[in-house]
Amino acid sequence: MNEQWNGFVQSVKSYYKQDFVPLHEPTFNNKELEYVTDCVKTGWVSSVGAYVTRFEEDLAKMVGVKRAVAVVNGTAALHIALKVAGVKPNEEVLMPALTFIATANAVSYAGAVPHFVDVTERSLGLDPYKLDKYLEKIAVKQGNELLNKETNRVIRAVVPMHTFGHPVELDELIAVCDKYNLTLVEDAAESLGSYYKGKHTGSFGKINAMSFNGNKIATTGGGGAILTDDEALADYAKHLTTTAKVPHHWEYVHDEIGYNYRMPNINAALGCAQLEKVPKFIDMKRDLTRFYKDLVKDIESVQLFEEPSYSNSNYWLQTLLLDSSMNRDEVLAYLNDNGVMSRPIWQPMHYLEMYKDCPRSDLSVIEDLNRRIINVPSTPVK
Ligand SMILES: *Cc1c(COP(=O)(O)O)cnc(C)c1O
Repeated sequence: MNEQWNGFVQSVKSYYKQDFVPLHEPTFNNKELEYVTDCVKTGWVSSVGAYVTRFEEDLAKMVGVKRAVAVVNGTAALHIALKVAGVKPNEEVLMPALTFIATANAVSYAGAVPHFVDVTERSLGLDPYKLDKYLEKIAVKQGNELLNKETNRVIRAVVPMHTFGHPVELDELIAVCDKYNLTLVEDAAESLGSYYKGKHTGSFGKINAMSFNGNKIATTGGGGAILTDDEALADYAKHLTTTAKVPHHWEYVHDEIGYNYRMPNINAALGCAQLEKVPKFIDMKRDLTRFYKDLVKDIESVQLFEEPSYSNSNYWLQTLLLDSSMNRDEVLAYLNDNGVMSRPIWQPMHYLEMYKDCPRSDLSVIEDLNRRIINVPSTPVK
């Protein structure tokens, strides 16, 4: 094994001109410095300021939705998106078991129960065909609602996640949502700049969430956004994420239990500079994809994961798919020991203590993929 991977390690290091290559780092230049300095100089660093509005407008335009609401992180964005979408305590929310923990946690914060379903190897995201067959078996319509026959709970929503930026099969998934009266909420945390059949991800659901954490394709330090075409939902999301304060010149009136989830102006300033560069970042990511594709040609039993044919992915994290015969942990140990930072995909949600008893379908594709996926350095470089 080591001879092939030694060549891989050397090539990655020379591509990055670095002896230790991290998995993903943010890229800044003068623009970030200029906007952040502006916040410091004017004193507008906190909960009020022009960059928040500008960030929201720039982002909404980029994604092609009417409104974006900037918040403190992607988890908070998901939490409020779910609440505003109508997810209530003790209802179930369908989601892939293969995702970052935030998707499941946000469902829990809304008082609901994650219900795990399988993914397809084509997109690494929700499998609409398998979901349809599964719902036919376990669910029944009752008036306008879908009832899980096994738990007696209402199944309210579906949260697909575009893994590593690769869009899921949205047309097929939307057909399933229509058939069963399910609300679609996209976890587009990883897919800024990714398109499904020419339309930006994060614009398909009733209301959707994105993340601007430090490791994402564009960052605000920490941050997130709620995206929707529905003005009333956007207004309500803004209200809930800003302590549900009723506008008044001086009085502190709050009309429900809100959240202090607002994105600070200084973070939005960083984000405004980052958004301007997303197209450039994506070009560089796609160069990187070609580099890795060429590189793994010489390694037995390894493939580079490529975007589904219906999509244009941002290729946020570069992904190697190992054959089942290979030992993932040996490869990870070799790469990490030799200065090429690499990570497995997340542990599936149903492997984790707090989610092990949640309802779930057959998850055999996820369990197989979990042993075969490795992410390799993905920072965009010139
Ligand atoms: C990054 C991410 C989030 C949100 O994460 P935050 O760190 O809270 O911004 C949510 N879902 C997925 C799939 C993510 O990758």
